[in-house]
Amino acid sequence: MRHLFVSPHYDDIALSCGGTAACLARAGQAPDVVVVFGAEPDGTVPLTDFAAFQHDRWGLTPDQAVAGRLAEETAAAAQLGTRFRLLPFQDAIYRGDRYLDDEQLFGETAADEADLPAHIIAALDLVGPADRDLRLYCPLAVAGHVDHRHAFAAGVELARRGWDVRFYEDQPYALQPGTVEDRLAEVAAQGIRSEAPILIDVAATWAAKLAAIFAYRSQLPVIFRDYLHGGDAREEIAAAMRAYAEQVGGTSLCERMWRLTPLPDPSPRP
Ligand SMILES: [Zn+2]
Repeated sequence: MRHLFVSPHYDDIALSCGGTAACLARAGQAPDVVVVFGAEPDGTVPLTDFAAFQHDRWGLTPDQAVAGRLAEETAAAAQLGTRFRLLPFQDAIYRGDRYLDDEQLFGETAADEADLPAHIIAALDLVGPADRDLRLYCPLAVAGHVDHRHAFAAGVELARRGWDVRFYEDQPYALQPGTVEDRLAEVAAQGIRSEAPILIDVAATWAAKLAAIFAYRSQLPVIFRDYLHGGDAREEIAAAMRAYAEQVGGTSLCERMWRLTPLPDPSPRP
């Protein structure tokens, strides 16, 4: 069986299911990662203030932003044993003036982007009949970042067409108590049923997962800002991630994924 991890951004797989990917790599399964929204911004269009603010927080100049994140992804992939490639889509902060603050970035997707999940499926070359020898891992879109929502919608559509899709809990968003439950309620309100969760024991690859997470130096101070209290940053991040993995894992360290059953397409094409 082949395994394809759909990563909205650089860093999402290491953070959310890096332990699972590393387990597969160690078992000789050669997992693939595809970064959906990692393309260079259009250099002829000025950055919005919001995009410039994000670069500032990452400590990267516009010229360095994608190259810097690509270098981080390469280092993380080496830790996990994954191979990755990029799809030709830009991060939400580069897609014109659709998303201009955190509220919009974690709100509803723009109405004129309704076709984006279909474009993602096409770019993944998954438009044909379901291949049951391929397992896909897509974000549950916990906390609702718009790029994660688009990747989630692509995963739901593929599940609807019979593909084997598992939805991983987006980190570090899922560390916040109640966020996963809130997201599952939102998903249920869309008529999508969640099955019993799947727990993957990742104790054996926990160290590799943390090493991969630590490769994303530009991102850590921003995404873990609620968990950094002035001590050793790596220890504080490791403690936050471990606490969650123990909470879902009980006696071991686990990553949790969900299988979703969407209702049949309400408007089947003839
Ligand atoms: Zn992301």
